[in-house]
Order: sequence, then C-alpha cells, then structure tokens
Amino acid sequence: CGYVAVLGRPNVGKSTLMNHILGQKVSITSRKPQTTRHRILGIYTDDDAQILFVDTPGIHKKEARSINRYMNRAASSSMVDVDVIIFVVDGTQWTEDDELVLEKLQQTNCKTILFVNKVDKIQDKEQLLPHLAKITERFEFDAVFPGSALRGDNLEPLISQIKDWLPKGDLFFP
Ligand code: GDP
Repeated sequence: CGYVAVLGRPNVGKSTLMNHILGQKVSITSRKPQTTRHRILGIYTDDDAQILFVDTPGIHKKEARSINRYMNRAASSSMVDVDVIIFVVDGTQWTEDDELVLEKLQQTNCKTILFVNKVDKIQDKEQLLPHLAKITERFEFDAVFPGSALRGDNLEPLISQIKDWLPKGDLFFP
C-alpha cells in the first residue's frame, strides 16, 4: 500500500475530495488508527489496491493561524516519507499561499499531483487551459488533474494514477 497526503489551503475542497474518494470505501477514521509515521484519515480499498490517506505529523489546528507557516510545515513533513502528495487548489481562486507551497513541493522526491478543483464553477472552460499552462510552466508536477470533488468529476483517473505509482502487494490490512 502507499501513503498519500492531501495538502492545500482551507476551503479548496480537501475534505470533499477525501469524502468522495473514501465515500463507499472502508473508512476507519473514527478509530483514528496510527501507523508509526502518520495518523490515518481513511483507507481506499478496492480489488487490487489499498491507499492510505494520512495526516501530516506535527500539524495542529493552532498552527493554522499562520497559513504560510502551516502550509510550509505540512509540505515539509509530507515530503519526508509520503509516497504521493495531492496538492489541491481552487481553480477559481489562485493565491500567493498556493505558490509558496508549490515552490516547496518542487524539492520533494515523492510524486506530486496538482488537483485543480471546483472546475464545475468555471463557466468558460476555455479560460482554464491558459491558466493551467501558466502554472505548469513555472512548476513541475508528475500529474495534473482538473476536476470537481463535489461532483466527482475526474476522480477515477486520479485514483488510477496513484495506484500506478504505489508499491504493489504491500497491504495494510491483508
Ligand atoms: P477544505 O477546507 O479544503 O477541506 O474544503 P472543504 O472540502 O470543506 O470544501 C470547502 C467548500 O467548497 C465547501 O462548501 C464545499 O462544498 C465546496 N467545494 C468543495 N469541492 C467543490 C467542487 O468541486 N465544486 C464546488 N462548486 N464546490 C466545492
């Protein structure tokens, strides 16, 4: 199985994304299980894969007072030992906080995915492409998915991409 962290500033849709992915799946969030490395937020399971969605260590609500500091720490601690980072941005609202974290993520060895969320709110989809091009010109990702966590648009390709990258046959719950 693999470890996946979902990062992004508040309100970009991280919980919605997690709920959608974990919705029909085995989710053990209530027992707050720990691995040696992380608190598990939920587990996606299907016939041939398990994906552990984890919290990043050392991050507490209080630190969210300073969004920059919080995001920096989240990015740094994820970079240490997570296999995949999904960085979620709001496709309708790009901010400097996003850019700071993106710079940080350029230094990681793990796979990075940019999930551009809330595209259902974008009326003129043609505007999205130049916008995405500008981001991907400046920052490198292993994959970019525009989508909608709320409607579930483009989440299947996201999951199947993650599954492709994860180590095979190493299950948390055999
Ligand atoms: P978080 O703070 O990053 O976990 O964000 P939430 O998942 O709590 O979402 C913040 C708000 O954005 C909520 O009102 C969601 O319903 C809304 N939201 C999340 N994803 C989408 C999306 O894909 N499209 C639209 N239109 N709204 C969304």
